[in-house]
Amino acid sequence: MSTGADQDVIVIGGGIGGMIAANRAAQLGLKATVLEQGDDRYPCNSRYTGGTLHICTRDIMLEEETQRQLIIDYSAGFVRDDLAKVISTHGRRAVRWLQEEGLKFIRASGSEHHKWTLAPPGRVRPGLDWEGRSGDVLLRTLEQQLNKRGGAVVRNTRARSLINEGGKCTGVVAECGGVNKDYRARAVVIADGGFQGNPELVKRYISGHPERLKQRGAGTGRGDGLLMAQAFGAATTGLDRFYGHVLCRDALTNEMLWPYPYLDPLVTAGIVVTVTGQRFVDEGRGGTYTANFIAQLDDPLSAFTIFDHDIWEQPGRFGLIPPNPHLANEGGTMHKAADLAALAKAAGINGVALQATVAAYNKALAEQTEKPLSLTPLRSTKKYKAMPIVKPPFYAVPAVSGITYTMGGIVISAHAQALREDGKAIEGLYVAGAAAGGMEGGPEIAYVGGLSKGGVTGLAAAEHIAEWLGKSPAITH
Ligand SMILES: Cc1cc2nc3c(=O)[nH]c(=O)nc-3n(C[C@H](O)[C@H](O)[C@H](O)COP(=O)(O)OP(=O)(O)OC[C@H]3O[C@@H](n4cnc5c(N)ncnc54)[C@H](O)[C@@H]3O)c2cc1C
Repeated sequence: MSTGADQDVIVIGGGIGGMIAANRAAQLGLKATVLEQGDDRYPCNSRYTGGTLHICTRDIMLEEETQRQLIIDYSAGFVRDDLAKVISTHGRRAVRWLQEEGLKFIRASGSEHHKWTLAPPGRVRPGLDWEGRSGDVLLRTLEQQLNKRGGAVVRNTRARSLINEGGKCTGVVAECGGVNKDYRARAVVIADGGFQGNPELVKRYISGHPERLKQRGAGTGRGDGLLMAQAFGAATTGLDRFYGHVLCRDALTNEMLWPYPYLDPLVTAGIVVTVTGQRFVDEGRGGTYTANFIAQLDDPLSAFTIFDHDIWEQPGRFGLIPPNPHLANEGGTMHKAADLAALAKAAGINGVALQATVAAYNKALAEQTEKPLSLTPLRSTKKYKAMPIVKPPFYAVPAVSGITYTMGGIVISAHAQALREDGKAIEGLYVAGAAAGGMEGGPEIAYVGGLSKGGVTGLAAAEHIAEWLGKSPAITH
């Protein structure tokens, strides 16, 4: 069945990427419809978000050239220069545009990172708490705006394939109540939020044991967009990386232990070992980096973060919802002992090896002047202060890798067009938000920012479609 070619733009997915693309397109005089698989207040990462618009955890309003260089350096050149330029030019514009749509921002903490946070803030207590908060307000506001502009979010409708006419994308086949419908349009924007909710794809690209990871988000990104785009001939990049955090393993069963508190402040000040008592990751490169390495273990449920009294009392109290005291208050398992041998026994870790690992780590911290510490694996100390593990009591917290969203995806141009392997754009096909690849990840597992990525690509896609259809002045990047 066909609904006719009466739309200019069909957007797949009603998260930040899709809702910005649809609204901006409608604002520029185009007819835009969002197809959303969920119902009512449909769950998605944008609804659950903490709400901070940042770039590489720095102020999104930083001067453009500084920001472009920051993205290149932070990702060790993984992010293409033209994409780094788009992010640095349009990140701040996304904030201003959202303000014009009626959204309010607050500074969620004294940290530069939290300067531009959607109000009311999305991180106030342990567990999932989204109703009436940043992402929920964002989506409801943007849907009202879209309705006013003559567009709509069509719920319970899951896009299944793209319509290919002579290599041009001219619509979407979507399923609603077991019936497939054709939604014809001049352009399609894939904004389905990534593939973290598809165990088969996670197994193919990220971890041998997807069931041993914790979905640290809505899990609604099931890779439909990626698969549809691949079937159309689009190129993909960086599929092996994800944004996430290290969580207490009890988050698998205890709803109060995800998405917050996460263990990152303990991980980056102490060490992470497996049951063998040995380290396997450079913890000093951060929680997202460590979460990716935990996911790659033969058994991702074999990692523990090890720390001492001072780490628990100092960095353990760092952050908006820190592990100290929330981890203990919410019943997270914390093995605690007066010495390392007893700690290892309580946690089921090889005690001899753990003592040797901690001794080598403490020695390196005390003696080495070169950075990073020459250990196997190396231990960076530049971004986060590594602290010795010397003062009892000692702690071991069983960890799980929390996957929030996949960083890789469909290769895009600076105008958010889906590209083929030869670098040519697929006419009529665009990508926004977490479905877009090449803006994050790579060898450094660089987290540039999920919301800023959604904002930048949503605006870029809509503006290019409008320009192409003769509806707006050219937007230069
Ligand atoms: C707890 C948490 C805290 C976070 N905090 C921050 C933060 O402070 N700052 C930051 O930058 N980022 C943060 N993020 C990440 C950020 O929220 C996401 O990267 C961003 O919201 C992704 O937006 P999106 O539009 O790409 O995807 P989503 O918001 O996931 O939206 C995609 C939508 O597509 C729909 N969909 C999927 N497949 C189909 C299909 N086949 N057909 C129709 N619809 C489909 C889904 O149902 C969903 O509604 C956080 C995420 C979480 C979970």
